[in-house]
Amino acid sequence: MRIAVISDIHGNLAALEAVLAAVAGRCDQVWCLGDVVGYGARPNECVDVVRTRATVALCGNHDLAALGRLDTTDFSGDAGAAARWTGNELGAEERAWLESLSPLAARDGAQLFHGSPRDPVWDYVLSEEVALESLLATTAPIVLVGHSHVALALGWDGEELAGGLAPAETEVELDRARWLLNPGSVGQPRDGDPRAAWLLIDDETRRASFMRVPYAVAETQAEIRERGLPPALAARLAHGI
Ligand code: ZN
Repeated sequence: MRIAVISDIHGNLAALEAVLAAVAGRCDQVWCLGDVVGYGARPNECVDVVRTRATVALCGNHDLAALGRLDTTDFSGDAGAAARWTGNELGAEERAWLESLSPLAARDGAQLFHGSPRDPVWDYVLSEEVALESLLATTAPIVLVGHSHVALALGWDGEELAGGLAPAETEVELDRARWLLNPGSVGQPRDGDPRAAWLLIDDETRRASFMRVPYAVAETQAEIRERGLPPALAARLAHGI
């Protein structure tokens, strides 16, 4: 089986469509690690696409904020403004679907979290320390996390933690270690590569491959500005920050 793992779409429909075009015909399943909405201008369309295509979907902190289920005082000004805008924009069906999601899940051979095992909604896995803690708190061969918008691959063989940032074309051998993998973000990458990120897990070759796809950044930026969302949310997309 081949699985496409996506995360942190954030209402960026052009990026989501570019990723799914790259995935088409190559993967049997799509798993989504959450934050389908928030920041971007097309929340309903992104929800509709993900709920149709994904076999597993988690909710993230931005999804919960848009639903009004999370206090947004911890959000930056732009993130809070976007969460309130998204909350007003969400349709009834899209809202109901988001309401049905959990921030964690388990599948054969994998445990999935939006944030981390310690706190599936809020915690960021951005250090070796938290990565190791996450691996030690789980048992599945593969631990998948999103939330930080930074693609990561860290392997634990029982003695040593190896790996780190996972730029485009990084590949890992799944049987070499237990892995903590973050696919990076579809709709708002923050690792300096503005291209939409996704992760291909191939059960037969036993490899995971970090993929990047260019998309129409200008289209998404124009939508953000037209809807009156904070302009910085458009500007950052050009730089992948
Ligand atoms: Zn996010």
